[in-house]
Amino acid sequence: MWSLPNIWGGSLAPVPAGTPILPPVQAAITETLTEAPATSTSTSAPTATVTRTPTSKPTFAPTLTPTPSKADIKRVLIVSFDGLRPDAIEAAPMPNVTELANGGTYSYTSATTIDYPATSPSHASMLSGLCMEDHGVIYNKYFMYMGYSKGVDVFDLAHEAGMRTVMIVSKDKLRQLAEPETTDVFEVAYGEPAIERAVLPQIEEGFGLMFVHFAGGDNRGHKYGWMSGEYLKVLREGDAVLGKMIQALKDNGLYETTLIIVNADHGGHDKNHIGTLIEDFRIPWIAHGPGVVQQELTRLIFIMDTAATAAYALGLPLQEDWAGIPVYEAFGEPQIKVHEGYPCKT
Ligand SMILES: [Zn+2]
Repeated sequence: MWSLPNIWGGSLAPVPAGTPILPPVQAAITETLTEAPATSTSTSAPTATVTRTPTSKPTFAPTLTPTPSKADIKRVLIVSFDGLRPDAIEAAPMPNVTELANGGTYSYTSATTIDYPATSPSHASMLSGLCMEDHGVIYNKYFMYMGYSKGVDVFDLAHEAGMRTVMIVSKDKLRQLAEPETTDVFEVAYGEPAIERAVLPQIEEGFGLMFVHFAGGDNRGHKYGWMSGEYLKVLREGDAVLGKMIQALKDNGLYETTLIIVNADHGGHDKNHIGTLIEDFRIPWIAHGPGVVQQELTRLIFIMDTAATAAYALGLPLQEDWAGIPVYEAFGEPQIKVHEGYPCKT
C-alpha cells in the first residue's frame, strides 16, 4: 500500500506590491562579519560591519515572473488523437503537439495503452484510471444497452467538485465513457472543422475539465494505412485545431493556469491496430502546464495514468481501485509509486 499524497488546493495568497519575487542569489556571495566585542555597556544596538563581496557573477538572472507551480492549475484539458503513434508527431508534422512536448514532460517510447488496444476500452481506461475488467467497456461499438463505463472516473470527480465538465468527441460510441449527468456539455463533432467549431466556444465559456477527441488519424489509418500520407495529413489538421485551442486559452487568459495532457488510445500499423505489434500499443504521453518540468520520461506509463494525473492536478481524490498512478514527476515531485509491469489482468 502507499499513502495518498498531500493534495494542494486553493489559490496562492496575493503578493503585496514590491515584494521580491526571488530570494537573493546566495551561492555567488561570500560574507565576512565583524562584530564589535561585547564589552560595551552601551544600551544602543550592537554594531556590526557586514561586507558582501561577490566572488563571481550570479549564474542566472532573476526573472520578472515567478515560476508557475502546480497549485496554479485551475483546469485540465485532455486531448486524445485517436490512433496517434508517437513517431507520427514528427512525421506529420504536428508543431503544436511538439511545442507542448518540448515545453513540458513527455514520453514517446515508454507509454502504452491497455492490452486490448481498441478505441472504446482504451478511452474508458484513459478517463477512468481503471483496467478494462473494472470499467467494463469490453466492447468497441456503441452498445447503449451496456450502459456507461463503471467505477468512479475523473469526470465523476470533477463534476462532483462543481467544475464545469465538457466532452467533445468525434465518435458517438464515446458517449459510453461518462454518464450524461457528469458531463455539462457533451457533443459529437465529425471532422476537424466541426471539432474546432464545437470546442472554441467551450473554451471561451470556461471549464474545469475538458476532453477533446480527434478521430481523424484512426479513420484514415484504417482506410489508407498508418503513417500513410492521408493519415499524416489529418493529424496535421487536428494539430492545427489544437493550435487554435491553445490560442483561445491564451485569448481568454486561461493558458497559464491550464494543464494540457495530450495522449492517444492506441497506435496502429498497416490498416489496423489489433495488437500484434508494439506500434499498436505504444502511445505518446505529454503534459504541459503550470509547474510541469521540461523532461522526457522513459519509465513505464500507462493510459490509466492520464485520469490519475488529471485528478491529482485538480486536487480531486485519487481512487483506491484505480490502476492509474499520477505522473508526479511531471510536476518535479518524487514518483512515490511506479508501475512494476502491466497493472491489469486483461
Ligand atoms: Zn481508436
